[in-house]
Amino acid sequence: MTSHTPDHGAAGAPAPAAPGGARSFHSMWNELAPIGRHADTGGYRRYAWTGADADCRTWFQEQALARGLTYETDRNGNQWAWLGDPLAGDAVVTGSHLDSVPDGGAFDGPLGVVSSFAALDELRHRGAEFSRPLAITNFGDEEGARFGLACVGSRLTAGQLTKEKAYELRDGDGVSLPRAMEAAGYDPDAIGADPERLARIGAFVELHVEQGRALDLSGDRVGIASAIWPHGRWRFDFRGEANHAGTTRLVDRRDPMLTYAATVLAARTEAALAGAVATFGKIAVEPNGVNAIPSLVRGWLDSRAADQATLDTVVTAIEKAAHERAEQDGIDLAVVRESFTPVVEFEHALRDELNRILGGAVPVLGTGAGHDAGILSAAVPTAMLFVRNPTGVSHSPREFAAEDDCTAGVLALADVLEGLACR
Ligand SMILES: [Zn+2]
Repeated sequence: MTSHTPDHGAAGAPAPAAPGGARSFHSMWNELAPIGRHADTGGYRRYAWTGADADCRTWFQEQALARGLTYETDRNGNQWAWLGDPLAGDAVVTGSHLDSVPDGGAFDGPLGVVSSFAALDELRHRGAEFSRPLAITNFGDEEGARFGLACVGSRLTAGQLTKEKAYELRDGDGVSLPRAMEAAGYDPDAIGADPERLARIGAFVELHVEQGRALDLSGDRVGIASAIWPHGRWRFDFRGEANHAGTTRLVDRRDPMLTYAATVLAARTEAALAGAVATFGKIAVEPNGVNAIPSLVRGWLDSRAADQATLDTVVTAIEKAAHERAEQDGIDLAVVRESFTPVVEFEHALRDELNRILGGAVPVLGTGAGHDAGILSAAVPTAMLFVRNPTGVSHSPREFAAEDDCTAGVLALADVLEGLACR
């Protein structure tokens, strides 16, 4: 620890002076801000392998070269900037992503990448001497906005997405992932698992804006992630009978919309009872006519909870409520689990090490959002730092973190990198 250790606890206190990291954060943030921002919405449209993505990538490369770092892209198009020998092993790696969801906010992803460069500036300002290689990364296509699958860059590298499956991905215009990569100047033949690269990483730390209000409620600028909640998606098919909305008596109807509506309310109740979240955010209706009783309502449930048992309890209760109501309404119901991601527990030893480096007073919190760090955690020791988001809003132009909190994040990340890589 050094005299630059920030006061992570006091919400109202000004961030401590640190010209190195704080100043470079500010100028980098302003450089990156206009790239891919939509004039009408103010949101970002930085989709994988598009022009805005290329501009972000150029920016990353320029930051690497300006600092005398060794720049490379890996076989999956992820960007790397190395201080020290990339082949030496036991590297400390930090970074995040620069792509966005449709009309996303400025912070989700870029905060981690910009903070990584700023933390390196801070350490050089402190005169830190590195005993392990350090790398800064930008993982490609984290949000999955274009091809519908999140964390493509890190999934490919970790072997959790095969080349064959990646080749099947198509965007809304029917352009395949390999053609999009090719158009952006990358070789899609090369993509695939990269165990040699992962084997050279001793620790991965991702700083990210918090996508909830836990830090705002606790009055802390910075937190450490404990785990990524298990989450899944279930498809509910409610089948009834299409009929005339004007002439069919209420008692004669088999209306699946009623059953669906009751299920949405049950999902809300069960999630609230269990301290979980459950959302029906997508629906398809047949025949989808204003004056027709539906024959089919298909609703997709997204549910997440702090642990598997709670999630199981919530989803089972929602299914039970749906079946009971379907019985009453004369509706046939089928439920299919379409995807499931188990809990990601970040490595306890690294998490405890971060806590120790940051003075032991940093809150440890779980999150319901997925990250590259969650993908990599299956292969390398991984940790995350969260920076306070006063409204908790994310994936929206309203996403926000105060500059003092961003600076506290930079200094916390610098402390962590110093503690891990400068021993
Ligand atoms: Zn993100």
